Amino acid sequence: MEITKINESKSQLEGFTKRLECSVEYHDGQFEDIWVEIGGPNAGNVTNSVDPWVVMLLPVAFTLGEPIETSEAIDQTLLQNLRSLQEIWSFWYPKFSPIEITANTTNRFPSSVKNKRSTASFFSGGVDSFHILANCTGPGRVIDLTGLITVWGFDVPLSKPNEFSIVRNSCDDVAASLSLESNVVATNIRSTRFGRANWGGLSHGCALASVGLLFSPTYEKVLIGSTHQIPDFQPWGSHVITDPLCSSSVCQIVHFGATENRVDKTRSLINFDPARRHLRVCWKEQAAGNCGKCSKCVRTMSTLHLFGNLNEFRTFDSSKFSLNMLAEVVLHNKNDESFICEINNEAKILGDLAIHEAATVALSRYRREERFRRLLKPILLPLNRLLRHAPYFWRFAK
Ligand SMILES: [Zn+2]
Repeated sequence: MEITKINESKSQLEGFTKRLECSVEYHDGQFEDIWVEIGGPNAGNVTNSVDPWVVMLLPVAFTLGEPIETSEAIDQTLLQNLRSLQEIWSFWYPKFSPIEITANTTNRFPSSVKNKRSTASFFSGGVDSFHILANCTGPGRVIDLTGLITVWGFDVPLSKPNEFSIVRNSCDDVAASLSLESNVVATNIRSTRFGRANWGGLSHGCALASVGLLFSPTYEKVLIGSTHQIPDFQPWGSHVITDPLCSSSVCQIVHFGATENRVDKTRSLINFDPARRHLRVCWKEQAAGNCGKCSKCVRTMSTLHLFGNLNEFRTFDSSKFSLNMLAEVVLHNKNDESFICEINNEAKILGDLAIHEAATVALSRYRREERFRRLLKPILLPLNRLLRHAPYFWRFAK
């Protein structure tokens, strides 16, 4: 794929200031325009360089096996980092190989950035985001945070402007209460070929980092909230090993909070007022609120219930919560299993037998089903291959 053009123009969305557009030609001859719109106090101070776009395109290039070409110069440090990043991806996913990035290189530091710059964090309103704010604002902060970046087009789709409006108001309120800048970005990336890369397992860290690099003239450091705790090193799109490898000479991407698990992070929010007013963990309905039924909602409500603070968090309806919901929660993968294990371990430490029993029911059912799936795999795989091309049956051979 070739990055043929990067354009800047006026915004086409209400509440945004500027649009940056990247034209890409793929190896099959098809063209695609990927755009980002920027709003907030720093919209006039973003980079027009190719760096963010290469990071944004890397997961899809890696997935499709297409080298990236550009006539623009890329930051030397970033190029080296992206080679290392792909080595890790191909170790995790051996059927894919690193692709070449063909470009001239430049070292952007220090001549290209003259202003004193600061630190921003991505903010979605979830536990990981609020954990950053609880640690990086106020007395005793570990990093001096000055701005938030909220993205429309990742978890809330562009087709839901009213939902994003609620999210944006909530982010603006949190930012104002903590004297932080509220930056906002909209992008069509998930409706482009980028969607062919695995969002959870591979691409969402690069999507976030690319938006962070856009703000490199304003922020020298951009934080991404961790998902898993060290030493849980299961492959994931945003990871303590891979996120820093999206850093350039002028903007460091920091994976924050990996020393704590999700239960610890939730505990850190119990007395944090912005989180009590605005905590939003649910992506199930791609909406602004919490559904109160999905696995993410149920495990967050269970953790808050374990600490005795669920009814203080206004974005959850505590009257509809019961421990049966935890016992019946459906776990889809190792990722879900690890989060329920954390709740179970904390319940044992705190001596909460009711939560321990409910979590054990959910975990036992998942492990039973996993054993059954493993037993059936040798039978189902050949059957799947056999039926894939058979008339009518191909619909079921997935
Ligand atoms: Zn939910």
